[in-house]
Order: sequence, then structure tokens, then C-alpha cells
Amino acid sequence: MAKEQVLVSGGAGYIGSHTAVALIEAGYDVVIIDNLSNSDMNAVEGVRKITGVDVPFEKVDCCDKEALRVIFKKYPFRSAIHFAAYKAVGESVDEPLKYYSNNLCSFINILELMREEGRENILFSSSATVYGEPDALPVTENSPRKPSTSPYGNTKQMCEDILRDSTAAYKGLKGIALRYFNPMGAHPSALIGELPRGVPNNLVPFITQTAAGVRECLSIFGDDYPTPDGTCIRDYIDVVDLAGAHVAAISRLIEGRNKANYEIFNVGTGRGVSVMELVKAFEKVNNLKLNYRIAGRRAGDTIEVWANTSLANEELGWKATRTLEETLAAAWAWEKHVRGL
Ligand code: NAD
Ligand code: UDP
Repeated sequence: MAKEQVLVSGGAGYIGSHTAVALIEAGYDVVIIDNLSNSDMNAVEGVRKITGVDVPFEKVDCCDKEALRVIFKKYPFRSAIHFAAYKAVGESVDEPLKYYSNNLCSFINILELMREEGRENILFSSSATVYGEPDALPVTENSPRKPSTSPYGNTKQMCEDILRDSTAAYKGLKGIALRYFNPMGAHPSALIGELPRGVPNNLVPFITQTAAGVRECLSIFGDDYPTPDGTCIRDYIDVVDLAGAHVAAISRLIEGRNKANYEIFNVGTGRGVSVMELVKAFEKVNNLKLNYRIAGRRAGDTIEVWANTSLANEELGWKATRTLEETLAAAWAWEKHVRGL
């Protein structure tokens, strides 16, 4: 019997490449498309090497609907996972139109083609950023979405709404939005991982680059927050666990186990970790000293957020399993691989 095929848009990127591996390991056929605006072919080669499968890759911009249509005509997938988007929060404030244009057009094109070409199942990469500064912790899927503080965050809220309305209106279209908390780490093979261009905005790549000597010193943005050690708290989710959540969610749609045409799941560990705890854990598990200093608060930072993951645990049958230490060891192994250390 032919394998069920899944389109992975943005599959050369950080989360997409790990998800491609997890899908293949779970028995799916994968087609990767990407315009390589924030990635390169090394990730695709990494996926091929890890899985031993010559995964098809097509260089396509999802904003180019006719080019995308060619992909839909060429491959018979029933399901798609849409990662293709820009994701730098700060840049989105400076260049909002770039973000609205890319993140909305690419998703609308995918949805229109799914409808026009009779495809059924779509997963969308959303974010815990939609919760803003929560009123109560941990956040559940029913916690209110807060007005976004960035155009990037707005695109996540808008795309969630577009998916909700489309799955309500168009018979045969089913969708799930996965709200990721803070993805980090890398594949244990160290063949794929996170490769930020320029100065990293996110904590873990900044830590690993500092440990590798690429950055001089990590700035911890604020130690005077109302948290036990004064630093901000997040729910850090291992990227391999996160990839597994995509397999669970797409399987639910493919096998028709969904309870509504549109569903939302938090994807986190359910545990809050402070910046300082994370830095200390990184030092301990990798047996090194990190050069860091306490700096001023970063504008717009949420003080603390972590997930209630009961819904994903119960409905998707998925749970994060990797420990903070395993994840931080994998992140460092990947950085060393990239730097040739
Ligand atoms: P990434 O930049 O590594 O991957 C995104 C990929 O999409 C890149 O390879 C990029 O080249 C590609 N792409 C962008 N626009 C495209 C277009 N128009 N057509 C084709 N390809 C395009 O980012 P990531 O961290 O893997 O994130 C994947 C998704 O998850 C994004 O939608 C992001 O907003 C979302 N997300 C990420 C995080 C995080 O912390 N990494 C958190 C929450 C949500
Ligand atoms: N952070 C930090 N120094 C950095 C980058 C991030 O102290 O160089 C902190 C940041 O203030 C936040 C946490 O690390 O409290 C996670 O930040 P990240 O940008 O990775 O994720 P997000 O803020 O989007 O949750």
C-alpha cells in the first residue's frame, strides 16, 4: 500500500526539518518545500542522512500561488503542515508589511490550493505568544488571547482565525493549530538543529554561541522580575518532542479522530524554567562556565508563561519526554558540530 504523503512547507527550517524526520520515522512519505529564505540545503541533506530516505525537496515560495499549484498537481498528499513564515519578532516591528505579506499570503495560498485541489488536513504553527502576559498560569487553550505586541504575533492570531473560519466554511477541510511554547535543542544526531542568521534573538542559540566563543557574553534581560530568582520564566520544549506532537496531530486528522473541524493544542512541557535555571543547567550538563551578565529588561518581554498540556496529553496521546539536561546537551552538541569544535 502506498504511504500516506504529507507536504511540509518550511521543511528546511528548524522545526520543519525535525518534523520531517519524525514523520518519516512514523511511516509517512514527506515532500519538503521551502524558499530557503531562512535556511539552506544542509538541513534537507541532514533529514536525508538521518532517515536514509531521499526526501523530495522543491524550492518554492509559498507566496507564489502558481508555483505552489504545480506542487499540488505533482504530489498527491492529502495533508500539509505549514511552517513557512518569518519569525523574528523585533524585525516584524521594523518591517511589518514584510511579515503580514509573507505570513498571511503563504498561508492563504496553501489553504486556497487545498480547497481547489481537494486536500483535507492542515496543521498550522502557532505560538504561545498569542497568550501575551497571562492572567492565570498555566495557560490552557481556553485562556484568552491577548492583543499582540508585535506584527509577528498578529500574524499568528490572524492565521489562527483564518484557519478557524476556513474549516468552518469549507466542507472537507480540517485543521489544527499547535501553539508552541519555547522550542529549543537539536536532533541527537547533531545533523540538524537551529541555525539563526546574524545575532540570535532567542535565549538558547545565544547561550550556545557564547559557549562556542562566537558571542562574548550572554546578557540576561532582567533579574528584578517578580519570579523566585528574578528572571523570566518560560516553558522550553525540546524540538524532537515538538516534532512528535506534529506526528500525533496530523495522524489524528488523517485517521479522523478529531472532535471538531478546528482544534487547538498547547505544545509545551507544562513546566516553567527561569532564564537563570536554564543557564545553570546548561553549564552543569555540559561541564563549562558561561560568560554572562545581568542586563536591563528587554522591552515587551512576558514575565512568565508555561503551558497546561493536559489537552495534548489526553487527546493527542502525546507528552514531552526529553529532560532539560538532554535538550541542553543536544543544543551544545549541535553548536559544536556547526562550528567544527
Ligand atoms: P525557520 O525560519 O527555521 O523555518 C521556517 C522556514 O520557512 C525557513 O526554512 C524559511 O526559509 C521558510 N519560509 C519562510 N517563508 C517562506 C515562504 N514564503 N515560502 C517558502 N518557505 C518559506 O523557523 P522555525 O523556528 O522552524 O519556525 C517554524 C514555524 O513555527 C514558523 O511559522 C514560526 O513562526 C513558528 N514558531 C516558531 C517558534 C520558535 O521559537 N522557533 C515558536 C512558535 C512558533
Ligand atoms: N533572554 C535573555 N537573553 C537573551 C535572549 C533571551 O535573557 O539574549 C531571555 C528573554 O528575556 C526571555 C527568555 O530569555 O525571558 C526567552 O527569550 P526568547 O527570546 O528565547 O523567547 P520568548 O521571549 O519569545 O519567549
